[in-house]
Amino acid sequence: MKYYDIAVPIDKYSNFTYIAGDKMALRKGSVVHVSFQRRTIVGVVMGEAKPFKGAKEVKGKILDLPLNLLELGLWVSRYYLCPPGIVFSFMLPPFMKRVNMVGEYQIKMELLKLTPAQSKAYQRIKEAVTGKHFETFLLLGVTGSGKTEVYLRVMEDILREGKSLLYLVPEIAMIPQVLERVRNRFGMGETYHYKLGRGKRYSYWINALKGSLKIGIGSRMSIFSPFLNLGLIIVDEEHSDSYRQEEPKPRFSARDVAVMRGAMEGIPVILGSATPSIESLYNTKVGKYELLKLPERVGGWAMPEIEVVNPGRNIFSKEIETAIEETVKRKEMSRVILFLNRRGYAPYGKCYSCGYTIHCPNCDIALTLHKATDSLICHHCGYSMERLLECPKCGKRLVYLGWGTERIEEEIKARYRDFNVQRMDTDSISRRHDHERIYDELRSGEIEILLGTQMVTKGLDLPDVGLVGVVSADTAINFPDFRASERTFQLLSQVAGRAGRRGKGRVIIQSNNPDHYAIRFAKEHDYEGFYSQEIEFRRSAKYPPFVNLARILIQSKDEDKAIKASERIKRKLESSKRKATFNILGPVPCPIGRIGRNYRYHILLKSEEEYLLQRALKKLYSEKVSGVRISFEIDPANML
Ligand code: ADP
Ligand code: ZN
Repeated sequence: MKYYDIAVPIDKYSNFTYIAGDKMALRKGSVVHVSFQRRTIVGVVMGEAKPFKGAKEVKGKILDLPLNLLELGLWVSRYYLCPPGIVFSFMLPPFMKRVNMVGEYQIKMELLKLTPAQSKAYQRIKEAVTGKHFETFLLLGVTGSGKTEVYLRVMEDILREGKSLLYLVPEIAMIPQVLERVRNRFGMGETYHYKLGRGKRYSYWINALKGSLKIGIGSRMSIFSPFLNLGLIIVDEEHSDSYRQEEPKPRFSARDVAVMRGAMEGIPVILGSATPSIESLYNTKVGKYELLKLPERVGGWAMPEIEVVNPGRNIFSKEIETAIEETVKRKEMSRVILFLNRRGYAPYGKCYSCGYTIHCPNCDIALTLHKATDSLICHHCGYSMERLLECPKCGKRLVYLGWGTERIEEEIKARYRDFNVQRMDTDSISRRHDHERIYDELRSGEIEILLGTQMVTKGLDLPDVGLVGVVSADTAINFPDFRASERTFQLLSQVAGRAGRRGKGRVIIQSNNPDHYAIRFAKEHDYEGFYSQEIEFRRSAKYPPFVNLARILIQSKDEDKAIKASERIKRKLESSKRKATFNILGPVPCPIGRIGRNYRYHILLKSEEEYLLQRALKKLYSEKVSGVRISFEIDPANML
């Protein structure tokens, strides 16, 4: 009998000691069933332990976690400051009895001749593949420039060597399109994401572990797929925020874990994007990543021309109205996409007599009017109430201001009665088959005017789009977040890329800040120009990539408690830091001061040294204040 330290999924840095016979053949990384607080749970062996009186017996061994995953999990635990038991529990699938096996893959004929730019990119990556060494490539190319084709070529080489590969996409909605292309080329490929049923997740996992599955396609959680003989990781749309997981823990970036996994396994990693994150492009400038460019669209289609107009206080400017009319009347290139990153009918309600505004009772957020349900909804906590007609303070009539996608739909339908108009946002699309139906109708050309939120910008490869209109580019531009300009630039470029994939398209961006640099550079398709200005801002304001950033979020229903806890944390940090090794900013109220009845304060930490913040924060991990929730985030994506 031996004693073992076992990591279990609870949010504490303490392992638990269990005992097991030698026959069970446990090692570091063995996945076991143990009983914990009268339940049977899954734990992972961290090593042998000192004898401990009263240790319970391990109930049974499930499998041994491959060493590469064990190492990766331990790194995630260290870097993102999350107890190993939680990390491993996230990495593992639900364990089931039955496994559906997958078939063999075959490589189908290669048909396309690569363009010179594709071929150069492919050759560079191939050198890393043949040399069997770690290298991160940033493949920079607009949509339609042939990035996917480059991935497929490299994938083919990896498969010929008998190795496996992982292909990450940020959104589940994009998976079917990628899966179709991969299956057309290789006759196989399986997907992994949180919406997949338990049985399918388990089958995927076991097949990957056994080596019968060679191609994994998935969302951020698939970065932990248990391939033993991994040869390549692709992270498409690497700039996407969806690679960040905030809840549940571990809070990690799948893109950054991918690069770390590549380094640990000595394999190439390809990050692809038309608008790479500032951090990734910076990494190419300092020699960490290699930049590969696909400067043109395949087939030589020009990038669409972008016009910026200021609509003043109107929903639609004259320019956009005329353009819609002209486009829908055409025979070809007659499809229109309208984009507005705001759901609902109207984002504010106000009383002009007494100045009252309608706020969520739980959050510092205005309630949005939704006409379909005739209700006022909080987009942060989900609170909803019946629509108010009169001011609760003075009884006068309330006015609803501004517009969201629901209102745009109403306006468009009123003006273009004879056209097939479809709205696409989380309110109009609930089930999976809605999504598929719309996707089919778009491809067949049935839908003539598509409007919606970010959903319309992602993963749709549509021919025949003659006009893309951005109803307002200003929804996020002034957010108090250091990434606000970057996000606006990326979003505008992404939406603009939907125009004219097979012919000349037009893009009109409406903005009340037409001179903002994110808008100016997006208009010129000038990613490098945007980068040069943005990187100077990051340098002078000391933001990533020039510093490591961590955020401590302190939340409580009782504001006083939140303030006291924040101040105590700050004092502890100050006393633990020797010399000036990191900067502490705050505590201050978060830009959104209250969500779901919780008052929110945060402290930001900046350091130039790696792992310093983790070390400082780990000491605070066990800090508990009743009624206060304290959370730590390394490389935070969201500053609101
Ligand atoms: P991206 O991933 O950058 O959006 P894709 O790889 O999807 O670009 O390519 C865009 C379109 O061009 C696809 O329909 C693809 O089949 C086609 N394509 C890509 N490379 C070539 C090539 N070398 N020759 C001809 N067509 C190509
Ligand atoms: Zn709310």
